[in-house]
Amino acid sequence: MTADAQLPIGVAIIGGGPAGLSAGLQLVRANRRIAILDSNRPRHSATLQSHGFLTRDGTPPLELRKIGREEFEAYPTATFAQAMTREITPLSEAEALAVGFPDGIGFRVRGTGIRGAADVEFISRRVLVAAGLTEELPALPTIRAYYGTALHSCVECDGFEKTDKPLVLIGETSDLFARALLISRFSSDLIVFTNGADTVRPEQEEQLARIGVHVERRAIDDVVGERAGMTGVRLVDGTVIPRVGGFIRPRWHAPVEFLGAQSVERDDWGLIRVSDQGETSTRGVYAVGDIVPPGPQQLIIAAGNGARVAARLNMDMIRGALGVGQIDA
Ligand SMILES: Cc1cc2nc3c(=O)[nH]c(=O)nc-3n(C[C@H](O)[C@H](O)[C@H](O)COP(=O)(O)OP(=O)(O)OC[C@H]3O[C@@H](n4cnc5c(N)ncnc54)[C@H](O)[C@@H]3O)c2cc1C
Repeated sequence: MTADAQLPIGVAIIGGGPAGLSAGLQLVRANRRIAILDSNRPRHSATLQSHGFLTRDGTPPLELRKIGREEFEAYPTATFAQAMTREITPLSEAEALAVGFPDGIGFRVRGTGIRGAADVEFISRRVLVAAGLTEELPALPTIRAYYGTALHSCVECDGFEKTDKPLVLIGETSDLFARALLISRFSSDLIVFTNGADTVRPEQEEQLARIGVHVERRAIDDVVGERAGMTGVRLVDGTVIPRVGGFIRPRWHAPVEFLGAQSVERDDWGLIRVSDQGETSTRGVYAVGDIVPPGPQQLIIAAGNGARVAARLNMDMIRGALGVGQIDA
């Protein structure tokens, strides 16, 4: 069942991944009218199995989202819109008060329908950004063909299946050393490929050498493989180093162009900074999941974060209605 889209709503949630769905479920259970707008482009769509979500270990990620959506939509005040959020604009205080938002805070949220769904527009007291991240893999011609099968990005999620295998870590960012240490728990037959970037310091290279991890600084030409899967990494000088899989460190981007002129503060990695309550630097706009520091983690963490921030949002709106302002620190 869906709520009447004409009525003002409590929270417009941007993104129907584990963070947004979990927040949505908590908020409809708090008797609030909630809309989730989802563009159906989850980052983990490259993979067939998700690991480590208690009671759902090994479940396909799309199945997990389907169950989450069904649970959310079972409530009469829930709306799930298949839509790409295009624009979020703040209401003036007078407009917000006129639609019945007692603390004078409100937003107009517009989305373009996808897969034949209608365009949507909501007037909402609060906004929760749960849009996840988009990712940019190292620029190698066929790397994407192995992503989600031989190559992964989340060590906690997919390390176990790679135990004792000859692995790679490919990346060009300054956190490669920490990632290599984490992967070494699963296999000491690990080569860190910096692809020509100067991102592993000499003392870090020495420490890695002590646990048998080699750093390869030459530039990569491509990942190579056969029908059965990845077989190695070819360097620009033609050398092929046999490897069966491993990890990539993508670059991540927080896709919040829809916030337009309402700039939200970001950290050095471009992630959306939030207060302990989950609120961004724009009053009334909250954020959860992979899009907030420390960045990409796991499904269960995104879902837990969604539930936690939903409770804060609910209290913020209760206090707003009483005119006592935001939650105390
Ligand atoms: C290849 C891969 C494998 C993974 N495997 C695992 C695993 O096995 N176990 C595990 O625990 N974790 C795994 N993860 C990590 C996990 O997927 C993420 O931590 C989790 O999905 C983050 O949840 P989220 O709700 O923050 O974002 P997402 O799940 O990315 O959901 C964000 C949603 O927002 C939507 N969206 C974005 N912009 C807009 C917009 N403008 N309007 C409307 N909707 C929008 C997107 O379409 C998407 O549906 C994996 C990640 C990847 C990339």
